[in-house]
Amino acid sequence: MKSTNPVFTGLQTTVFETMSRLAMAHDAVNLGQGFPDVDGPEDIRKVAADALMAGPNQYPPMLGIPDLRKAVAAANGRFYGLDVDWQTQVLVTSGATEALADTILALVEPGDEVILIEPLYDCYLPMVKRAGGIPVRLRVTPPSWALDLDVLETAFSDKTKAILINNPMNPAAKVFSAAELQAIADLCVHHDVYAICDEVYEHLVFGGEHHRPLMTFDGMGERAVRIGSAGKTFSLTGWKVGYITGPAHLIDPIAKAHQYVTFTTPPNLQKAVAYGLAKDDAYYTDLARELEDKRDRMAKGLEALGFGVLPCAATYFLTCDITGLGFGANDIDACTRLVEEAGVAAVPVSAFYGGDAPDRFIRFCFCKRDAVIDEAIDRLSAHLSPRTAQAAR
Ligand code: PMP
Ligand code: GLN
Repeated sequence: MKSTNPVFTGLQTTVFETMSRLAMAHDAVNLGQGFPDVDGPEDIRKVAADALMAGPNQYPPMLGIPDLRKAVAAANGRFYGLDVDWQTQVLVTSGATEALADTILALVEPGDEVILIEPLYDCYLPMVKRAGGIPVRLRVTPPSWALDLDVLETAFSDKTKAILINNPMNPAAKVFSAAELQAIADLCVHHDVYAICDEVYEHLVFGGEHHRPLMTFDGMGERAVRIGSAGKTFSLTGWKVGYITGPAHLIDPIAKAHQYVTFTTPPNLQKAVAYGLAKDDAYYTDLARELEDKRDRMAKGLEALGFGVLPCAATYFLTCDITGLGFGANDIDACTRLVEEAGVAAVPVSAFYGGDAPDRFIRFCFCKRDAVIDEAIDRLSAHLSPRTAQAAR
């Protein structure tokens, strides 16, 4: 038989799916894959349920239903002061994953260089390769996750077509600083490069801080697209409703890719997300504050057990240094042992890097009920206490 395409088939099943399967097999508390364990607002779900029954349930417009495109444009104005034309500058997709695929397929031609910043969310690299792009990787690493601006500068060349930036960043829980964003913007303008901005965690930023899209920097309005996800903004990750905002001259080609990837997204979910985006400010501040409480609850528990918990400015994730905890040779070993022996699933941070990755850090997802967080800490504690006792002997 002839071979299948190795760009995808040469890869393992993603670390998120793998850890979720292991969590199920071992009846573990699943702090691996990033999803809340309570569904998002009931009123949003009710709008979706009612729209499903009332219909229509036929193909919605290819760009997305007008209500949702208007709501996305309005949200860009409300949160970021961006002036977005809903008819030409917004595209609805089946999740941020599809938005990323459409954007990469539309902008990247074979031989184009695309700058990627490790740690990388799982779909970036295969999609860039599938489009024929040449990945140019640089990295930020724990514990500081700081972007080296000199290294950044050397990554840009005449061949660079685009940079893909995930801000706030999974799993680093990093919010790029204004200086880092300014440097990226300056280089994009100087080298005439597009910015693909994965901003799915835009509303999950802590400490009363607000997300700042790269698109708002001088010269970026014409060359940046920003991608959001209702999954994250409304704690409904299974819905897979995403949206892209960008200049009309980029949304148009991206829509051409979208028409052959999925063409459209379930109409009832679009209607409900349009309703959700118009929620009052209290919804958004509560979402971030509740998550922040969970972050602190988990961080406190992990710190007490000896984990080196890194600062977390945003997202669903806490990264921890496991040095000295005796969990085996590296992060993969540690996660395997934790899920099998302690009954807690986490994700090895090395999975987000190419070769020579940092291997002493693991990621825990904290968007879980308090009782679930406590149960995980109890299990880790029970697992660690005999070791701690042994080390003390
Ligand atoms: N980008 C990042 C950084 C993510 O963590 C995720 C996963 N939730 C996605 C994109 C995919 O989002 P969606 O589920 O809307 O496809
Ligand atoms: N974004 C989620 C995470 O980082 C995973 C989503 C997925 O499994 N594709 O855990």
